[in-house]
Amino acid sequence: MHRPTRRHLVVATALVAATTAAVAVTTAAGAFDDARQAKDAIKSGKAKNVILLIGDGMGDSEITLARDYTVGANGRLNMDKFPLTGAYTTYAVHADGTPDYVTDSAASGTGWATGVKTVNGRISKTPGTDKPVRTLLELAQRNGYATGDVTTAELTDATPAVLASHATDRSCQGPADMAKCPTDTIAAGGPGSIAEQEVNHKVDVLIGGGMQRFEQKITAGRYKGLTVTQQARKLGYQVVTDRAGLKGAKPGKPVLGLFATGNVPVEWTGKAAALGGTSPQRCVTSNPGRPSTTPSLADSATKAIQLLEAKQQRNHSKQGFFLQIEGASIDKQDHAADPCGQIGETAAFDRAVRVARAYAAKHPDTLVVTTADHAHTSQIVPLEATPPGLSSTLVTDEGQQLKVNYSTNTPGQSQEHTGTQVRIAAQGPQAYRVLGVTNQTGLFTTIREALRLR
Ligand SMILES: [Zn+2]
Repeated sequence: MHRPTRRHLVVATALVAATTAAVAVTTAAGAFDDARQAKDAIKSGKAKNVILLIGDGMGDSEITLARDYTVGANGRLNMDKFPLTGAYTTYAVHADGTPDYVTDSAASGTGWATGVKTVNGRISKTPGTDKPVRTLLELAQRNGYATGDVTTAELTDATPAVLASHATDRSCQGPADMAKCPTDTIAAGGPGSIAEQEVNHKVDVLIGGGMQRFEQKITAGRYKGLTVTQQARKLGYQVVTDRAGLKGAKPGKPVLGLFATGNVPVEWTGKAAALGGTSPQRCVTSNPGRPSTTPSLADSATKAIQLLEAKQQRNHSKQGFFLQIEGASIDKQDHAADPCGQIGETAAFDRAVRVARAYAAKHPDTLVVTTADHAHTSQIVPLEATPPGLSSTLVTDEGQQLKVNYSTNTPGQSQEHTGTQVRIAAQGPQAYRVLGVTNQTGLFTTIREALRLR
């Protein structure tokens, strides 16, 4: 039998004894810091702020792969340093409410955004009756919090969309994309496309890619004939398109950052996994297709926090902010069986986690949660394995070979999400709620309770 790890011991001790003296008994180096963090984290008070970090498609395999490659098998990523860790289930449902064991990002995001499970492809609407369900962001706005929604995908992609829109199908991203959402169009009396809804929500900070959706012309209603970007300007948005623009954005007006036509280009490049494997490769930690003026996810996270905090200070608000930050292309590179793209995006996401934890270190009334929306394909397999699908051999930063396998679909097809549970880790008020094995919809309750949303 394994001895319990130091972290488990510390958490268990903190939970039963909850006194500094009892917790400090453990002698391992750094244990006191861990114990103090755990003690803080099991506090049940109100949070002033919540920062929710979503690694899209970031299952345990994806975390381990990034850890092994970048900081080594015995190293720790920023996302590994939370004092309290649990696991949660991510399944979607069919229209009749029975489980659909493998979720997509739309149903998954709807789970934590609304507390209600839905069918794959749907954005914050019910599974059978297709009715809108109030989201955490809507509740946070109603309760006086500043709100932000940051991603490396198109801003209208499923994970950012679930907070500030309701759509029958995730594909209804811009005014010209409404084929699968006949009752959501403005002409039909609906709320319009995801892009229109996001700016109509007046989310204080919207940052991501997807300019192509916001450049589409609105087809009905009061903004007919304008693009969504023009509508956003009319609603008071500052629209920025690169790092300098983001840096110059001022609090006092909402910010719409659109840093790419589609998804924000990935940070790293390398050889995609191949049938029969690749020769051992080191990843290239740059991408010629990524303009040097493109902000990193950590840049966007830093600026979003500054803007949201400044807004609340100017308004002398007692409430803080609710901010979601998504590392979207961990998923997209996993679909593409591109291990270097995937690891680079996981590392970039981890630097955004560092930004959030640094803020929380100075503002302990901040609940920080890091999790994923679903697990994915990549698996670390023995070097001697000969997977039937795609694989690649990497040479890690610690100089060792590592084989990664992508075999959830036929080579040439998009690799698939998987239905396994994923990690959820947290610190700050109400963080203890992530312990054990929970359901994804429980994250809605955790944030609602932390911010006392009514
Ligand atoms: Zn996906």
